[in-house]
Amino acid sequence: MRSYTLTAPAKINLYLEIIGDRPDGYHELAMILQSIDLADQIELHSISTDSIRIYCDHPQVPTDENNLAYQAAELMATQFPEAFSKHGGIEITINKHIPIAAGLAGGSTNAAAVLVGIDLLWNLGLTQSELEELGASLGSDVPFCVAGGTVIATGRGEQLSPLPNLDNIYIVLAKYRSLEVSTAWAYKTYRQQFGNSYIRNTKDLAARAAAVHSGGIVKAIFAKNTAEIAQKLHNDLERVVLSAYPQVLQLREVFATQEGVLGTMMSGSGPTVFALLESEQQAQAVKLKMREIIPDEDLELFVTRMTTHGIQIVSSV
Ligand code: ATP
Repeated sequence: MRSYTLTAPAKINLYLEIIGDRPDGYHELAMILQSIDLADQIELHSISTDSIRIYCDHPQVPTDENNLAYQAAELMATQFPEAFSKHGGIEITINKHIPIAAGLAGGSTNAAAVLVGIDLLWNLGLTQSELEELGASLGSDVPFCVAGGTVIATGRGEQLSPLPNLDNIYIVLAKYRSLEVSTAWAYKTYRQQFGNSYIRNTKDLAARAAAVHSGGIVKAIFAKNTAEIAQKLHNDLERVVLSAYPQVLQLREVFATQEGVLGTMMSGSGPTVFALLESEQQAQAVKLKMREIIPDEDLELFVTRMTTHGIQIVSSV
């Protein structure tokens, strides 16, 4: 096979708790990550030169070594030099549908697709956990994006523990096109404002992360109780982002008053806000209502749903 096309789904955070500082300087996190049906399409072709080339239809996505998909290909070339010289370089085309810098792991899922695609192109036969381990060196959300679904992620976000699949829950996403929130800024500001309450010793960090496994939202996920899941959504980063970005707060407030909305929350470090609903019909109605209440052309709205998978092959030639 000389070429593969893959789908790379976005994620939302149903839960994001900042537990404390890790000895390595990163934040210790406890998250529940959920794949959604909004996805980019990634095409991978083997080429005869030994270069990595990126093409993307979105003007704000870098096409050089700053692209996470490029970094994923470079990582594979370094890790598997014999396969790289045997099969040649890689041309990567990204058809962007996921809003960028949105808290939806757009770059991370592209990187995960490149890892999965090169594994296939080069017949490496890597296991899911080997791919996840490679992904962890590219970014905290990359390991999750490989297999996706509904997962508890602890540590920096790379320690994954699967939960029962959720797929019959509908979502409206709202994001101001021109508004970007830097993930680094959000975590830094959180540390400045709330760092004095962080857990720092290794034993207590582990105990707190473990407690998430028996927490209310996890119980609701096991019970497949959508209303209860929606009631237990949580994101610590809202404490810094909502006060600094009134537009994000406004989306949250308007969603909360719409008929059928079971719960609403910011995803990751924002600025995307999502609402959970029981049916597609209700989700479409909420999307129309949001457009009516906030007639700002800069506001992007998407109806999507939870999905049970991460990277999938669409076709191979
Ligand atoms: P996360 O939820 O993992 O924090 P995000 O959805 O907030 O991710 P991305 O869409 O990954 O953010 O984009 C963050 C920045 O990364 C962008 O401003 C962009 O310049 C850069 N970037 C690098 N590679 C990609 C890619 N393949 N797709 C989108 N953005 C990318």
